[in-house]
Amino acid sequence: MKTKLTLLAFALSCAAAPAGALDFNFGDIGKLLDTVTKVKDATTEIAEPQEIELGEGVASNLLGAAPLLKKPALQQYVNQVGLWLALQTERPDLPWRFGVLDDDNINAFATPGGNIFITHGLLQRMSSEAELAGVLAHEIAHVLKKHHLEAIKKNARTSLLTDVAAHAADRKGRNPAIAKLAGAGTELYARGLDKDDEFEADRMGVVIAARAGYDPYGLPAVLQILQGIDPGNSDFALMFKTHPTPSDRLGLLDSLMSNGFEGYDARPNLAARFRAVSGPGKKP
Ligand SMILES: [Zn+2]
Repeated sequence: MKTKLTLLAFALSCAAAPAGALDFNFGDIGKLLDTVTKVKDATTEIAEPQEIELGEGVASNLLGAAPLLKKPALQQYVNQVGLWLALQTERPDLPWRFGVLDDDNINAFATPGGNIFITHGLLQRMSSEAELAGVLAHEIAHVLKKHHLEAIKKNARTSLLTDVAAHAADRKGRNPAIAKLAGAGTELYARGLDKDDEFEADRMGVVIAARAGYDPYGLPAVLQILQGIDPGNSDFALMFKTHPTPSDRLGLLDSLMSNGFEGYDARPNLAARFRAVSGPGKKP
């Protein structure tokens, strides 16, 4: 229970900074500050090394709020499934990492650069690897399309964060710019992405899972599980607040999947996959 509240409190605390609710790792925030200051002034795309650095800072903050579950075999398993999925994408070389959070909430999220988290609460409600793959593939799609990165850039540019952040920082004797930045990077996880980003991640997630050889109906199966949960259930509150409703998401996938996903090549590229592992091979 405490973990659930802490995660939400953490995400919101960037603006409110309640005493004792969290400890930022200021080394990481310092790095984030450099990166986002550059982003704020630049009109060009953020380079991949900065994307990775930014994501690591955000991931480290999120892990401060809800640590990894202490089940090494489960962590390894989720990483294996996640890495296999990520290898089927156009960004196989990102430093992908997958983690199960020790958190009863039902949620999953990604940071820029390839850090992906799923809560133990969500994992416990699943019943197959295809379902896990569907959720991880949805999060992988957010990374591929840079949804969080773009949203963080937008926040940094428009200086969303308010006087509240500056006051909180003053009271604690910290740099207001750092408090602002922490908000830009993490407030997002309490507010959520645009609905269109979520729908896009659903569409791409199904394709990525299928390319990896999984039943593409894994993600819809999880959405059906979510649909069956009382929206008033507090474990579901953050997910419900930050995502379109499961029935809207299912409706969209249903219309796409019944039309055979025209325009998306969901077939596994078996030749490329074989060559990637086995090497170039010999001429007959
Ligand atoms: Zn999402």
